[in-house]
Amino acid sequence: MAEKYDAIVVGAGPAGIFASLEMCLAGLNVLLLDKGKEIDKRVCPLQKKGDRCRLCRPCHLVSGFGGAGAFSDGKLTLSPRVGGHLEELIGFKQSELLIDYVDKIYLDFGAPHRVYGEAENLEEQEGRARAVGLKLNPSRLRHMGSDVGRQVLSRMREHLGSRIKIVLEQTVKDLVVKDGAIAAVMTEDGERLACEHLILAPGREGSEWLTEQSRQLQLEVKSNPVDIGVRVEIPMEIMEEFTSTLYEPKLEYFSRSFDDRVRTFCVCPGGEVIMESTGGADPVITTNGFSYSEPKTRNTNFALLVSTSFTEPFRDSIAYGKSLARLANLLGGGVLVQRFGDLMKGHRSTQARLRNNPMKPSLEAATPGDLSFALPFRYLQGIIEMIYALDGLMPGVALPSTLLYGAEVKFYSSRLKLSRCMETGVKNMFAAGDGAGVSRGLVQASASGVLAGREVLRRMGKGSSTPGY
Ligand SMILES: Cc1cc2nc3c(=O)[nH]c(=O)nc-3n(C[C@H](O)[C@H](O)[C@H](O)COP(=O)(O)OP(=O)(O)OC[C@H]3O[C@@H](n4cnc5c(N)ncnc54)[C@H](O)[C@@H]3O)c2cc1C
Repeated sequence: MAEKYDAIVVGAGPAGIFASLEMCLAGLNVLLLDKGKEIDKRVCPLQKKGDRCRLCRPCHLVSGFGGAGAFSDGKLTLSPRVGGHLEELIGFKQSELLIDYVDKIYLDFGAPHRVYGEAENLEEQEGRARAVGLKLNPSRLRHMGSDVGRQVLSRMREHLGSRIKIVLEQTVKDLVVKDGAIAAVMTEDGERLACEHLILAPGREGSEWLTEQSRQLQLEVKSNPVDIGVRVEIPMEIMEEFTSTLYEPKLEYFSRSFDDRVRTFCVCPGGEVIMESTGGADPVITTNGFSYSEPKTRNTNFALLVSTSFTEPFRDSIAYGKSLARLANLLGGGVLVQRFGDLMKGHRSTQARLRNNPMKPSLEAATPGDLSFALPFRYLQGIIEMIYALDGLMPGVALPSTLLYGAEVKFYSSRLKLSRCMETGVKNMFAAGDGAGVSRGLVQASASGVLAGREVLRRMGKGSSTPGY
């Protein structure tokens, strides 16, 4: 008779890894599956400077052991209010405790000890931000950098290797439910893998697949909005006062023209701008950013994202975000880059203008062009207003030489209805991480994996929580 696993985990990103870490010492028969490659075999062709995104399937940046975490900037945000919806599911206090637990595991596997966001002059900085129409939301944060983040994940891979079964380059295609409970998963190769419990952690990369599976199983799914904007690149010195104490200054602005929320996101001091392919089976190329712990560039990049609510009866915000990214792809063959000065003068950037620009683009593969052909007025207006507001706090952000890359689109997965222990409407089938719409970052993705793993242990009579992992 075919083997039946106590638990199968789909997706070896932070959510799947932390669920597995939680279960691995209890003697359970656990299988962790991922469609991407081993962490040390994940090489993005774009790491060769100047190359264009080749739309690899699956994308090395977001698939394989470590998930999107393996190429992330490795910021561990230590607040329940940032990076997900855990607080709504388990309350603020429990989320805090869980985040603390997850943080300790990252530390045990080699995350650096320094915590940002605890400086004494925070109130003074908040006040100065208020004076120029910005709201500064400080939060505690640890920064691993892309390099240390990968080392941490590689150590977790080693730790799990002898304790559970890990199979990579295996895509899960379908879910088999019997009498309202999970029974098995079907792989793309047609293999049926039976299990008592299933933890689905497919990340943003697998979110469309998960939504489709949920629809087939008639599970309740809520749409999430999409945030649209650009990635800004400036000399490091301009933001240094804030990045040296907060690492990531989270600033918020409400546009005068439309009252839309515009915010900084994923600030990468000393980092590089990158392209990523996103959107599952029908991908688009968008921008993102990352940095190493060492060496650093002399630039800082960050996203400026605009959040809007759409007019009725429109609902498909993911399709909308994709079509805007596709416009930028159509115009630039990938990502567009434009000097802020060119945007304000109403003309495109060219190779010649970029050559003379004091700010050199870290993403050499970006095509000089005109973002106003790709982004609707409402988004551009919000971004321009916020750049001027930022300039009031950090003089230099609105220099003509500032670089804007587009489009940056943050797709948030549809949210599956889950219980406090991450169980879906199917018995013994759990969902965790970004793919289920629970999280939007490493820490909350990991924490939701812990919750699901703990519940599997409890149901297998192995206690509600394991000490250690
Ligand atoms: C460039 C970049 C920088 C980032 N920087 C930060 C940061 O500094 N701080 C932060 O908190 N967050 C950051 N993030 C976000 C962070 O990486 C994610 O929030 C986190 O990785 C989500 O974890 P997850 O386990 O839910 O999903 P993921 O990490 O996306 O992992 C999901 C895994 O599931 C696999 N999978 C999907 N579908 C299937 C299937 N059907 N069968 C088998 N396998 C499947 C995928 O291959 C993938 O490996 C960054 C992301 C990117 C792309």
